[in-house]
Amino acid sequence: MPGKRYLMAPGPTPVPPEVLAAGARPVLHHRGPDFRALMRRCLERLRLVCRTENDVLLYTASGSAAFESAVVNLLSPGSPVLAVSAGEFGERWVALATAYGADVHELRYAWGETPRAGDVRQRVEETSAEVAFLVHSETSTGVVADVQALAQAAHEAGALVVVDAVSSLGAVPLETDAWGLDVVVAGSQKALMTPPGLSLAVVSPAAWERAGRSTNPRFYFDWARMKTSLDSGTTPFTPAVSLVASLDAALELLLEEGLEAAFARHAALGRACRAGAKAMGLELFSPDEDRSAVVTAILTPPDVDARELVLSLRDRFGITVAGGHGDLAARLFRIGHIGYYDVFDVTTALAAVELLLAEKGVGIERGVAVARALEAYRETAHVAT
Ligand SMILES: *Cc1c(COP(=O)(O)O)cnc(C)c1O
Repeated sequence: MPGKRYLMAPGPTPVPPEVLAAGARPVLHHRGPDFRALMRRCLERLRLVCRTENDVLLYTASGSAAFESAVVNLLSPGSPVLAVSAGEFGERWVALATAYGADVHELRYAWGETPRAGDVRQRVEETSAEVAFLVHSETSTGVVADVQALAQAAHEAGALVVVDAVSSLGAVPLETDAWGLDVVVAGSQKALMTPPGLSLAVVSPAAWERAGRSTNPRFYFDWARMKTSLDSGTTPFTPAVSLVASLDAALELLLEEGLEAAFARHAALGRACRAGAKAMGLELFSPDEDRSAVVTAILTPPDVDARELVLSLRDRFGITVAGGHGDLAARLFRIGHIGYYDVFDVTTALAAVELLLAEKGVGIERGVAVARALEAYRETAHVAT
């Protein structure tokens, strides 16, 4: 195993040194003035990143817990819900809401498909769903959905929308207020360039109104309890104070770069990764479109086992990429490029894949993946190297 490690999965993602350093400073007391100032600044920065004036609630828990907070605060046993699923995360929210006794209807697509607004409208109408669950970036497949159109369709049919933006926030455009998103859920460990352990739920006035009527039991994840504390700069229970310091530093970096510049960089990284994979003759599983800028899902040639490739990348080169799930495990691998990445991270992963495939006897013109990736990156106007 080589000493140097490269984290190229779509979460957790690499953390910039400034962000690690912020988390290594002496621990603050969460009721003191220093922490309150830090928390207030962090929440204000999160509002800027989410493009919202709604309440941002920050939890010491992973992204799934923030989603669970939406389920327990918005729903009551028997509430009709529509979950739109086209991969692992959509299916997870079906299971979660079912566990709380909601009347869950599923608009289910095959993994890798892109959900359609017309289907969402029709299914919300048919089921009288009061809440619709949408996944912005389905990390298991690489598909980034048109959440603006899906949310509009759900609203027109009468449902509130809860958006899983865990792997999209900070990487691709997400307009909480302009798109009227009722709840947006995200986590610290993806494009927000922070270690795992924090998650957020952004709550609109309509979602607050509904939460006031829901009867699901809740305590730690009770939104109202969290809001009361956050309004005075602290949390009801001891938060991961050092992660809040890290998240604040990461948000400062992201806002310094500028959200539009960050989106353009991610689009260019996606283009570079797809161009490199195609140059090796590999088939893309994720869509070949600019919106698909979070993770590139690639199929191995039929006689190359993707699980073996993923293990070899780690053992031989210290590179961690993600595998595929379920039926796709034998053929799929995924290169993440959200957060603290530049084009040379992408070319590192491509070069290593090329080397291993060439060793397996796959006919690849050597060096072509890196060359095409750099070309595709350079062609993107805003972020010329
Ligand atoms: C990572 C991720 C999550 C959250 O997973 P946790 O492990 O609970 O943080 C949820 N949805 C999507 C789309 C993700 O990529």
